[in-house]
Amino acid sequence: MKRQLLEPTLAEIERQSLTRRRITIDGFVERGNRLVTAVDGRTLVDFSSNDYLGLAHHPAIAAAMSACALRFGAGSAASHLITGHGIEHEALEEELAAFTGRERALLFSTGYMANLGVIGALADRGEWVLEDRLNHASLIDGALLSGARLKRYRHADPDDADRMLEESTNEAAVVATDGVFSMDGDIAPLSRLAKAAAIHRAWLVVDDAHGLGVLGKNGRGSTEELSADEVPVLVGTLGKAFGSFGAFVAGSRELIELLIQRARPYIYTTALPQPVAAATRKALEIAQREAWRRERVLALTERFRQAARSEGLPVLESSTPIQPLVLGSSAGALGAQKELLQAGFRVVAIRAPTVPRGGERLRITLSAAHTEEQVDTLVETLAEITERYRTTLS
Ligand SMILES: *Cc1c(COP(=O)(O)O)cnc(C)c1O
Repeated sequence: MKRQLLEPTLAEIERQSLTRRRITIDGFVERGNRLVTAVDGRTLVDFSSNDYLGLAHHPAIAAAMSACALRFGAGSAASHLITGHGIEHEALEEELAAFTGRERALLFSTGYMANLGVIGALADRGEWVLEDRLNHASLIDGALLSGARLKRYRHADPDDADRMLEESTNEAAVVATDGVFSMDGDIAPLSRLAKAAAIHRAWLVVDDAHGLGVLGKNGRGSTEELSADEVPVLVGTLGKAFGSFGAFVAGSRELIELLIQRARPYIYTTALPQPVAAATRKALEIAQREAWRRERVLALTERFRQAARSEGLPVLESSTPIQPLVLGSSAGALGAQKELLQAGFRVVAIRAPTVPRGGERLRITLSAAHTEEQVDTLVETLAEITERYRTTLS
């Protein structure tokens, strides 16, 4: 960008109602619950975080983090392959492998980096990477950065993926999909994708950032019913349901060894601080022990859906705690966000390019830390304001 274009560019973003703004949280109003926040002296109930199990503010997890920090310090001081790798990382990797039923797991600093790392390591220049159109930006960026040829199939359409695999005549290296789509909340057609990938001997990468800890009988996510053979590459994030920070890839011994050798976002970055790993270990233990957390968030999700449906709200079809309410324009979504703020709710407008134009929405997320009353009041408020901000498609 030419320097003289900086200001006009920002003005144009503003004109299109696309400016992204941060709201600074002053603190938490209820102990042990990060969803009731103080902003400019006002209390807001957060319905847009990814703290599905209500663990982000859990005292035992914070205690595990502080105890580890006092022992090992705040920083890891080097990358994993130099001197940054410690016993908390090692223990967490073993626990994540056991939790996901895989031979090995490898920690990454963020999910964004895990996806860049995995796709970069598995896809060679010129090979095809097939991705769902609505995949998370990090999976898309991973393919772009790898130099492979990115092909996007229709959303949640395994037949379209299969057709592209046929066309690729064995140049397809990777099929990658979100397990639960981050802005839509629907679940990918995983067993059909697994079959198509297996027939064409491509890797299936499932990024289950929003499914792990929440879905499945044991909280093992959207792939719980599938084998390690069907989903050879499983990516999970630790900053969402587990309320901590970081990410991991789980798979075979050889896959993990390849990532250690080849994944640049693993090799060339400072290791996740050990206190973060210690916090995640505690979170993983609590999430597994306290099944009521995922039962509760799913029950609240169902409560929200029933109430929203009886109010005639335009929520998308989703059985996960991600409940999008499509309003159809940036200005509409921002207007609704502002009114909800005045009513005491933090619900974030999602605009292009995060979602396609015309799909601008409020992304409402439920958490085990919400109360029934908060959910009911939210739906009542939405029922009052939605019509005014909705672009009616004619
Ligand atoms: C949040 C998210 C990521 C990125 O994870 P971070 O740890 O926040 O970098 C990757 N994939 C999906 C589907 C996500 O929703």
